[in-house]
Amino acid sequence: MRQVKTNYIALIVLALVTIFCGAMYLRSSVEQAIYDSTQPVARAELGSATLSVPTWNLFHAGKMWSLVSPEHHLESNFTPELAETTLDHAPGVTTIGKHIEGPLNSMFTAATSNNVNLMLSSAYRSATDQQELYDTLLGLRGSQYVQQYVAVPGTSEHQTGLAVDIASVSQGCKLDADACSLDATGITWLRTNAASYGFIERYPSGKQSITGVSGEHWHYRYVGVPLAKALSTANITLDEFVQQIAPGYAR
Ligand SMILES: [Zn+2]
Repeated sequence: MRQVKTNYIALIVLALVTIFCGAMYLRSSVEQAIYDSTQPVARAELGSATLSVPTWNLFHAGKMWSLVSPEHHLESNFTPELAETTLDHAPGVTTIGKHIEGPLNSMFTAATSNNVNLMLSSAYRSATDQQELYDTLLGLRGSQYVQQYVAVPGTSEHQTGLAVDIASVSQGCKLDADACSLDATGITWLRTNAASYGFIERYPSGKQSITGVSGEHWHYRYVGVPLAKALSTANITLDEFVQQIAPGYAR
């Protein structure tokens, strides 16, 4: 009788483990499907990593691997799917791209558990928002500043909903975006961990000749975990990746 009961319990445990593993496999396989398509259109060698390019669509305007810059304009009516953010934020920051909501929340939660408290100083900006920002900062800080730091409408990654500016939590930043800054601990934490959540430091200082933008240690761009990790490990920018793999989209 006792033997039967033990076998019965073992069977239930085995069934539960099987169901759990199956669910995990299904979940990870759905997440990975986009990268592991059976017929990738290309494979990229990035340092020691090999990355599959499942579809050229990822490089199209406003998509996850697209370049957005003075040479790569978004249509003025481009609008991504948006979500209200629940993260701490500066005034006027209300929405982020729906696509990055989960990864961004996970990254901020992980940072908090490491005693690094982050908030958003900027997130999605429409073409109109971008124009207003440009005009305001032109008035406040002059043309040299805006030429260096502020994109003209249609050329900002913020319009894709895939980019955010991150600051350390402070009362000042919650009241005024101009008071926001990312401290040294935050900078280091993000450089170490952001790739695990699919984000890259998009404009590293020292890479201005490649990105065309001065160092912005606060600006993070979502490109998905596999590419973020590969770029981070190989220490190359999104611009270099696109140039190497899809030069037609880099021109
Ligand atoms: Zn930014």
